[in-house]
Amino acid sequence: MKKMSRRDFVKGATSVGALAAFGLGYGPVIARSLNPTVGSETPPDPVVGPEGYLYTSCLQCNTGCGIKVKVVDGEAVKIEGNPYTPFNRFPHIDYATTPAEAVNEFGALCPKGQAGLQTAYDPYRLRKVLKRAGPRGSNRWVAIPFAQAIREIADGGTLFASVPGEETRVVPGLKELRAMRDPQTMKDIGADAKNVQKGTMTITLEKPISLRTLASARHSSAKPAR
Ligand code: SF4
Repeated sequence: MKKMSRRDFVKGATSVGALAAFGLGYGPVIARSLNPTVGSETPPDPVVGPEGYLYTSCLQCNTGCGIKVKVVDGEAVKIEGNPYTPFNRFPHIDYATTPAEAVNEFGALCPKGQAGLQTAYDPYRLRKVLKRAGPRGSNRWVAIPFAQAIREIADGGTLFASVPGEETRVVPGLKELRAMRDPQTMKDIGADAKNVQKGTMTITLEKPISLRTLASARHSSAKPAR
């Protein structure tokens, strides 16, 4: 009997492994990887139909991408890009496409957006607004309703009156920080915005010039950076 070398053994083991992988059903996957034209279109989703997808917005950052969330038995199990949104698919699918037609249409999504599932189901996720209930750094908190939080953030006041040393400290609300409260100024800006929309807003130079003309002049005279 021929003595088997270490190299023969490794080659034989590799062949057996490849055959086993094919036998286990990886054959089509491997074939498709080697030749992307092999295979057919992705079949309809076997788990959920169009009603199993929720179209909403990602709040993992302030971009607010469109997302398409797969929901199985009331639980979100996968987040994809919303194919109706130009942010996530360019060009996006026609808005007239029905959800049934779009069931297998998806957009791209960044990893942070896909990790939204972890945020949603994180056991340590804060589900209530926590308000400081002791001196800074004391790690003492009290849960308050959302409505109260919004009111206090907007209105301000002696928000920490129960904290020793802060009984009389007044916290300014966001409404105090709002820069423009003059009704006439707001009205004028609104009128200007309408003129900008129409492309008819002018600025005072030696002779009036429309912003559109100004923009196109700047654009055409722009020189490439060296
Ligand atoms: S998908 Fe990514 S980029 Fe878009 S909103 Fe979510 S985290 Fe931001």
